Amino acid sequence: MKDYIDLPPIIIERGEGAFLYGADGKRYIDIIGSWWCNLLGHCNPIISNAIKQQLDKLEHIIFANFSHMPAIELAEKLVTILPKGLTKFHFNDCGSASVEVALKMAFQYQGQSGRGYKNRFMCLNGGYHGETIGALSVGSMDKYSACFKPMLFEPIRLEAGDFDATEKIFQKYGKQTAALIIEPILQGASGMKIYSADYLKHLKKLCDKYNVILIADEIATGFGRTGKMFACDHANITPDIMCLSKGLTGGYLPFAITVTTDKIYDAFYADFKDGKAFLHSHTYSGNPLGCVASIAVIDILTKTTVIDTATKNAVWLKKTFEDTFKNHKNVSDIRSIGLINAIELVEDKASGKSFDKSKRIPYNLYKKALEKGLLLRPMGDVLYFNPPLNIEREVLAESVDIVSQILDGK
Ligand code: PMP
Repeated sequence: MKDYIDLPPIIIERGEGAFLYGADGKRYIDIIGSWWCNLLGHCNPIISNAIKQQLDKLEHIIFANFSHMPAIELAEKLVTILPKGLTKFHFNDCGSASVEVALKMAFQYQGQSGRGYKNRFMCLNGGYHGETIGALSVGSMDKYSACFKPMLFEPIRLEAGDFDATEKIFQKYGKQTAALIIEPILQGASGMKIYSADYLKHLKKLCDKYNVILIADEIATGFGRTGKMFACDHANITPDIMCLSKGLTGGYLPFAITVTTDKIYDAFYADFKDGKAFLHSHTYSGNPLGCVASIAVIDILTKTTVIDTATKNAVWLKKTFEDTFKNHKNVSDIRSIGLINAIELVEDKASGKSFDKSKRIPYNLYKKALEKGLLLRPMGDVLYFNPPLNIEREVLAESVDIVSQILDGK
């Protein structure tokens, strides 16, 4: 809050494509896609129109014993693009809620599937799944969780990419573990860290072997962000549960879905007297406006060339990042997947020495970028791009140029 004295919140009046316009008329390039949720540009006419049309028909309805055509149509469309076998949908209202639902669903499933409850969870070091209590428990970022430790449950942590250690942990704890939750391929909040599709396949095999539910949190990676429709597609796997939000509505509305398989659904399907139903009810579950926005997103992704164009721009951007930053004295690593490109900053490349945290170098770079009309939001010492998929190449080039300037103190 004290930072706001020096840098008061910027009032944004309107958005168009990759641009935001302040109340003072200043233009900003939204290179982080409004916290990674803006998928197809601000005020995308197709998504906006879909919401406007729906708004005059039905804004919301209790989603228990009632449904509506947008929810049905959305579920039907999702089945056609999701990894094969993901066919059942639980509607929620934000990413963290969809993670809570996934954890509870996995836990209850294990208890109801005839083998008894399993009460541990596994997660990956460096993972992030939101900031409600369950989601924080399976996250690994002290910054968000340290002071809440007494409120959290303790998961078993795996090191992404360490095949042998992972296998040993499954041997030791697999029997008591209900589920493993991961961000597939890309760990966003820990600095756009990428692990191999082979490691993801390895996790899937171990989960199957030890009857551990695999929860893929695709909240940040879904809908073309990593160059495939879903990050799980890089490994050709179907998780048991998948969490979707952010890009699902193009970043328009608080809306999320926890998706699962017939096998899991069937463990909850029973007579009323058996009390096996999955009870997790949010007021805004299945909101019709969120559904129509999501349908519009899927139509754009499947019926236009947006993903092809993004793929071509991603190849260009990766090369441009390498050409521009590889030899920079403050850049220790460059990571790319899809249109997501990140650079890790250090004070000294040769020794790998980090910046003195008290100097807040990344925050100062953020302020400098804003002055130059670029909305860049460092995570720790990592600067990254995660723009809308339909951003134009010239705008990417302008953004790279601004980052280059600020790194050189201009
Ligand atoms: N999981 C992942 C991988 C995320 O990146 C985020 C948000 N950054 C969340 C969960 C939480 O989503 P929300 O902020 O909508 O609760």
